Amino acid sequence: MTGPGPALADAARALADHLRFHQALGVRVLPLRGEPLAGPAAALRRLEARVAGCTRCKLARGRTTIVFGSGDPQARLVVIGEGPGEEEDRQGKPFVGRAGQLLTRMLESVGIARDEVYICNIVKCRPPGNRNPEPEEIAACAPFLAGQLAALRPGVICALGTFAAQQLLRTREPIGRLRGQRHHVGGAVVIPTYHPAFLLRNPGPSYRRQAYDDLKLIRREYDRVRGAAPTGA
Ligand code: URA
Repeated sequence: MTGPGPALADAARALADHLRFHQALGVRVLPLRGEPLAGPAAALRRLEARVAGCTRCKLARGRTTIVFGSGDPQARLVVIGEGPGEEEDRQGKPFVGRAGQLLTRMLESVGIARDEVYICNIVKCRPPGNRNPEPEEIAACAPFLAGQLAALRPGVICALGTFAAQQLLRTREPIGRLRGQRHHVGGAVVIPTYHPAFLLRNPGPSYRRQAYDDLKLIRREYDRVRGAAPTGA
């Protein structure tokens, strides 16, 4: 006989992950409107509706669209960048410019299709002139990122570049030290690597080889969390 045990245990795990992702991103006040244990697609839709028209920071003044995130709500792998650029701001989708094309090729180099992952950014609005996001802007957006991660409950997170890695890992260590290793945040393994825009600005085999090593590690963790046989990537 199967009672409510497994369903309750799963709900408890979901709630624990939800709280852990908020705690990990420094969110101290929980937005408890809506149903925290809704399925990922519904939870993301509800969160996106809450983000609409956001004026929590000054990035709201210069943006064309809010770039919430896109991809498979059931994804076990979430890719997190820094913030939208010009093309993303125009189209309302993350990583659709040159850096995005390179990101697609990076994922494909280890046999991961872009549409099987979920992609979002630390800040959802374009910093003017593609400058770095400021600490208040990152803090203002943190509840939205925490909400996305709580909804998705990924097994693996690929953090692209300094800002994503430092924000997720709550550290000031440079990306060169953080990359290439597994870190643990919430219920997920976080693997930082170089941002594709950095790789475009710094062509040459050395950084690309390191990024490829990171992607192979991501692929192994991705296979592990899905219980898939290793691909040999
Ligand atoms: N760079 C980012 O960090 N994010 C995007 O969405 C596009 C470029």
